[in-house]
Amino acid sequence: MGWLGFVGVQALVGAGDLSNTLVVAQGRTVGPALVVVVAGLLLAERRWPAVPRPALSRAHLVDAGYLALFAVVVVPLLTVVETGFAVEVQRHARFLIVSRLPLVPQVVVVGAILVGIDAMNWAAHVANHRSASLWRLHALHHSQEDMSVLTTFRTHPLVHATYLGALLPALVLGTSGTVPATALIIYGCLVTLPHANLRWTFGPLARIFVSPAYHRLHHASAPIDSRGTVNFGFVLVCWDQLSRHALFPSGGAPIATGIAGRPVPVEQDAPRMAAHRVVGAQLVQPFRMRSAMDGRS
Ligand SMILES: [Zn+2]
Ligand SMILES: [Zn+2]
Repeated sequence: MGWLGFVGVQALVGAGDLSNTLVVAQGRTVGPALVVVVAGLLLAERRWPAVPRPALSRAHLVDAGYLALFAVVVVPLLTVVETGFAVEVQRHARFLIVSRLPLVPQVVVVGAILVGIDAMNWAAHVANHRSASLWRLHALHHSQEDMSVLTTFRTHPLVHATYLGALLPALVLGTSGTVPATALIIYGCLVTLPHANLRWTFGPLARIFVSPAYHRLHHASAPIDSRGTVNFGFVLVCWDQLSRHALFPSGGAPIATGIAGRPVPVEQDAPRMAAHRVVGAQLVQPFRMRSAMDGRS
């Protein structure tokens, strides 16, 4: 990851484009659209909460801390790492890049890239659960016992390296079309929605898109199905259906979320500890002897 960051900075500085790229990436990832969506969902959570809780609960404060960390630190670092990844693919894996497909309409290419991004995100998410070392990092996201839309950003910064494969669809099909920034922003908002503290199931669209009720089952603190962890999807549920890991919500009280035994330090366990100290303890936990590996994956 360090090497990719170095290559990315070198490429952007060489093109005289470093600051502009960082500003554009920040605007696209945590720009006005995402702010509006997060604010709207926070309001919806007040109106239709799956689990009622105070607006200024400690869970909200800690997860808001992760949103700030994401916006200020993670997005710029990720941008240079992603640039480095793209440069290395162009240099060493050009065979992956498909030449221009003249007969395929642009809209089909863009659709294929977006579906490909979602497939790669799903595969990386499954790997985060299957690999003991990756689970150490991903467990932080699962440790939240009071989920909200802000929990989307409760991730260890190093986890993002596991999702670099999601860049491949755009690189592979890039000569035939580019995904408009608006489409990527909409995709980012759809990724954020499933963590909201809402009972929304999306009705007939539930068989296509990941809803808050569907993703909540992924965060269950205890297995709710003989298959173990279910519902790995980011935006589309088809990957879970194809791999027989889809479990659709069937009503009833919202299930408890978090990790049994609390192997990751959580804010609910340290009511007097300042939010920034909780975040610090959570960020170093993957590197401690007693780590999140003690939880289920
Ligand atoms: Zn997960
Ligand atoms: Zn999640």
